[in-house]
Amino acid sequence: MIVKVPSDIVPLDNILPDEPLLMMGAGPVPVPARVAAANSIVINHLGDTMSQIIEQVKSMSRYVFQTQTQHILGVAGPGSAAMEMAVVNLVSPGSTVVSICNGFFSGRLAEMAERVEANVIRVPVEDGHTAHPEMVAPILEKHKPKVLTIVQGETSNTIYNRFLPEICRLAQQHDCLVIVDAVCTLSTMPLDMDTWGVDAVITGGQKGLSSIPGVSLVAFSDKAWEYINSRTDTLRHWCLDAKLADQFWYKKAYHYTAPVSGILAMHEALRLICNESMPVRFARHLKCSEALQAGIETMGLVLYAPREARLNSVVGINTPKEICSTELLKYMSNRYRVEISGSFGPKIVRIGQMGEQCHAHNLFRTLHALGSSILALGGKLDLPAGAAALERQLRELSTEA
Ligand SMILES: *Cc1c(COP(=O)(O)O)cnc(C)c1O
Repeated sequence: MIVKVPSDIVPLDNILPDEPLLMMGAGPVPVPARVAAANSIVINHLGDTMSQIIEQVKSMSRYVFQTQTQHILGVAGPGSAAMEMAVVNLVSPGSTVVSICNGFFSGRLAEMAERVEANVIRVPVEDGHTAHPEMVAPILEKHKPKVLTIVQGETSNTIYNRFLPEICRLAQQHDCLVIVDAVCTLSTMPLDMDTWGVDAVITGGQKGLSSIPGVSLVAFSDKAWEYINSRTDTLRHWCLDAKLADQFWYKKAYHYTAPVSGILAMHEALRLICNESMPVRFARHLKCSEALQAGIETMGLVLYAPREARLNSVVGINTPKEICSTELLKYMSNRYRVEISGSFGPKIVRIGQMGEQCHAHNLFRTLHALGSSILALGGKLDLPAGAAALERQLRELSTEA
């Protein structure tokens, strides 16, 4: 044997903190106990139990995506695998794609389209702004793309594309398929796939849905599926080939071994969403995010995104001048056991407001951890005022709802 048993392996119990960290960053988010329990089960991926579960996952997904489509597929992989599944099945080499680029993730969709050798027109949206239909219309007119890609919420810089329905309508008028990345937004705010005319909606497990990372969903419209069926070329991606995935998701046949535990977890996450109902869930997310934002601003910090372009699912906060973001995150985690996220570009920290993150007790603990840590690191703010504003907003908004 040329490789010996490693001698330095520490059991997980010695690595993980005694008290679990409160995951309040941009994902993964905390999972409900039932989701965690489901994730510990392994069953036959082609048995009757699995087919019953798959039927329910599809049926609950239709509710969550607000679509009647019969083309919802799961994929073993991150949100990015679902993005790539939408892109490689709907974008043919040489075809024209318009990618609305608000930031990191919308840029990733463009990159994926470039990798299948499409002619990609990137439409950069100035940071701090939402994509406007007036800006998209002439581009559709000029380039006549087959596909348009866009994010509903850009997690990286906390920007919200509030004119998504209008942009989808424009694309429809130009007979252009629309791919929407809703990884952080699905089930946290309205997205009406059929009413808006979206042709592919993507979501991951670990954000809006509050499930585990590693199992994702993509919903294709009938029009998208017609195009997929009409393709005569062989896809370069075998795992992500929607026609092959259809074998498992609709014909009870083998494609690859499905991530059974993760699908069970997804089933539980979707069931909890159905039990809560989407309108109640949207209201909870809105209330919590707005109250958190009020707490942060009243404390004396500045939110990154201007109100009209601000995403509620992930809140971006300018890191005070005198504070280093990395140190702040480390301090919050070590001292208070609360994890939030840094960023890929601007000097901000980000707090998630997705799924299980949106509960009053998590908001208070996070606001306290953030405020106390900034104070400890030499910053200035009014933590009691922030906490009072959070409390007041939660109450006021409750009586309104
Ligand atoms: C997190 C995220 C992704 C990527 O998801 P992964 O699971 O990390 O691949 C894509 N789009 C958006 C908007 C996201 O927030």
